[in-house]
Formats: sequence, structure tokens, C-alpha cells
Amino acid sequence: MLIIDSDKCTACGVCETSCAFGAISVPSDCAVVNDSCTLCGACVENCPADALRIDVAERRASVNIGEYAGVMVFAEYRHGKVAPVSYELLGIGRKLADQRGVKLSAVLPGGSVAAYADDLIAAGADTVFLAEHPIFEQFREDVYAGILEQVIRDQQPEVVLAGATAIGRSVIPYVATAIDAGLTADCTRLEIREADGMLLQTRPAFGGNIMATIECPHTRPQMATVRPKVMAPAIPDLSRVGQVVPVQIPPHLLQSQIEVLETVVNTEDQVNIQEVETLVAGGRGLDSPKGFQLIRDLANELGGAVAASRAAVDSGWIPYPHQVGQTGKTVSPKLYIACGISGAVQHAVGMQSSEIVVAINRDKNAPIFDIATYGVVGDLYEVVPQLIKRLQEIKK
Ligand SMILES: Cc1cc2nc3c(=O)[nH]c(=O)nc-3n(C[C@H](O)[C@H](O)[C@H](O)COP(=O)(O)OP(=O)(O)OC[C@H]3O[C@@H](n4cnc5c(N)ncnc54)[C@H](O)[C@@H]3O)c2cc1C
Repeated sequence: MLIIDSDKCTACGVCETSCAFGAISVPSDCAVVNDSCTLCGACVENCPADALRIDVAERRASVNIGEYAGVMVFAEYRHGKVAPVSYELLGIGRKLADQRGVKLSAVLPGGSVAAYADDLIAAGADTVFLAEHPIFEQFREDVYAGILEQVIRDQQPEVVLAGATAIGRSVIPYVATAIDAGLTADCTRLEIREADGMLLQTRPAFGGNIMATIECPHTRPQMATVRPKVMAPAIPDLSRVGQVVPVQIPPHLLQSQIEVLETVVNTEDQVNIQEVETLVAGGRGLDSPKGFQLIRDLANELGGAVAASRAAVDSGWIPYPHQVGQTGKTVSPKLYIACGISGAVQHAVGMQSSEIVVAINRDKNAPIFDIATYGVVGDLYEVVPQLIKRLQEIKK
């Protein structure tokens, strides 16, 4: 917690201005901190009177880091299959576990999911903790968080990974809070520091303009979420052998505060742009919603789907599920054709791991050309129809 020494505080207000979270105010003769404090330490560094300090000693003393071992993945099951991101987490989880010389495990809650345990083992898990019960049939944050918390407390892994999906994002903060651990959201790189085995968790910060690497030196487990499609999925090895451990679910964990009244499947946008091999993306350069018809035509010729920049989505030209980028989806298709997209860093972080990027832009200095495999400098309304025509000729 942030400790304010009222004897030293001069009420100069430097802490208030240096706090990016509005967590400190100086109402009278001494600074006061509120619940928004993230313990970032900016106020401590800037205080000219040395009146502030962060007290982590109590927490440090209660955690024996040496007692924690292993990497654990939250395997997310929904709509009849394990979410693809879980296999991506097992891919990176296996590497981290091998580097640390520890086991990789997966926790799989669900109504009837035992059949998927072998897939998780083939993807790298040494152990699958199987939490099967009808209560997990529907996603309920409190019971999912409860069972994850229980397995983590029992097993004491040093690292816990979850997908930055709607489910992962809602359940994992519950767990991190319950076990008093830190959590780094939306990591794009995870690696082990050889010198001390620390997990280095890298993610974009400040609107994607810098990459921040976060460490968790004093508490365990080290917890991180990873966005879908950022890590390569594990290559299944059907000869792998592992252990499936049924989790005993205590009755109190089955008392959910949440009643699921109805599950409505989004039928508006069936195509998941994260799962197709070819994407044709349109940006502000289309100039109007009609431009997306041209983008759709090219996507149809290529058997692909339509994606978009945030500028196009914000303009109301295409719905949000098509948005690629920091606040949209991360995609890694074989082919990504960016039409009238400048290549702002917030867009680039969502598509730069595509195998081949083709950029069509009339500004030869557009940043998209820095990440493009092939670039066409020209008006998209001239270039795209020619591409479609050529594709049709080839097909004939
Ligand atoms: C916190 C934060 C999060 C963000 N998240 C995202 C995100 O998830 N995804 C995202 O995309 N953006 C995101 N943005 C916005 C991002 O910064 C850019 O503003 C956005 O990506 C720009 O979209 P654009 O490239 O379509 O438009 P512009 O930057 O306006 O570029 C349009 C391009 O089209 C070209 N052009 C114009 N007419 C033609 C033509 N006829 N033929 C060919 N080329 C043409 C222009 O030369 C220009 O390069 C975010 C911003 C912030 C601050």
C-alpha cells in the first residue's frame, strides 16, 4: 500500500500532478490517497519531501516464492470445442515450462469435457485438471473463478496463463484478486529470464507506442493474459502421455450468484476474422461505406473475409467484429491485403504477424509500406477492380 508520512508531507501537490490515475489529492495540509492507486510509484519518485513510500514488505514476507513451481494454463471450453487460444497458450506454456525445467498443466472446467483432455496433453500439457460438473455448462464468472482459485491454491504454479478472450478477461482478474497476485493483461511476448527464472511479460503500453516489460518479483503466481492469435499454437503430438486429474468440487463452489436466463448466439457476424486464411481490409481511404462492397468483392474472389481499421469501424461503415488492431482483434492470416489503411501502430499490432501483407495506398510514405511484403502505390479504386478482373481471368 501507499504510505503517506504526514509529518514530512508539505502539501506541495507534486504527487497529485504526477499521478496518472487521479489517485492522490491534497485537500488540506496532507496528501490523501484513494482506491484508484495502482502502486505505480510515480508519486514516490517525484515527492520532493520523501513523504511517500510503497509498503510491500508485508506481502513479500507472506509469499515463499520457492514453493511455487510449474506453468498452468486455463483451458477455455465454449460452443463445443476448446478455444483455439488455449492451444496457443499451451504452445508458449510448454516453452516456458521447458526453460524452467517444470511441468505444464491445464485446468479444464466444463459440463462434459473429459474427451478434450487428451487434446490438451497432445498439445503439451503434462497434467490436465478436469473440473467436470453441470454448473460449468454455462459460463459463470464466480464458479469458474472459484475452481481456478482452488486448483491454483492446491498446485501453487509459478506461472498462470489465460486467453485475453471475453471469458478470460472477465474471470482471471477475479482469480488474481482472490489469490493476491499481479496480472499483466494482453501480453504479446512471454519469456523466461535465464539469470533468475523470472517471467518477463511484454505488452504494448501508452496506446501501443512503447512496449513495456513487466516483472512480478515479489508474489506468485505470475499471471498473464495473452490475446488470441498472438502466439503460435502448439503442434499436437498424439504420442504424448499425460495425466488427467479429476478436480473435487466442494459444494460451496457450486453456489453461483449468477443465473443464466438465456444464451443468445450472435448471428449478425458469423465470420471470425481470426480464423480465416485471407483477409481483405478496408480503412478510411475507402471514403464511404460503399467502398466495402469493393473490399467484399475482392475477398470473395480470394475466398477470404473482410477486415477493417478502427477509422472505418468508428465511421459506422462496418461493424466492430471486423476491426483489427489494439482495440480490435489480432489476426495472423496467410494473406492480409490492406486497402486505404495508413498502418498506424495501433492497427499494425493487430496484423503484423500475417504471413504476407499487401498494401494498397496512394501515399508512398504511408507507414503500412514499412510492414508490407508487397506494396502498390495507387488509388485503391483503380487497383482493386484491376485485381478482381485479373483474378476472374485467371479462374476462367
Ligand atoms: C488507444 C487507441 C487504440 C486504437 N485501436 C485501434 C485498432 O484497434 N485498430 C485500428 O485500426 N486503429 C486503432 N486506433 C486508431 C489508429 O491510431 C488510427 O487512427 C487508425 O488505424 C487509422 O485508420 P486508417 O488507416 O483507416 O485511416 P487513416 O490513418 O486516415 O489512413 C487512411 C489511408 O488511406 C489512404 N488513402 C486515402 N484515399 C485512398 C485511395 N483512394 N486509395 C488508396 N489509399 C488511399 C491514405 O493515404 C491514408 O494512408 C487506435 C487509437 C488509439 C489511440
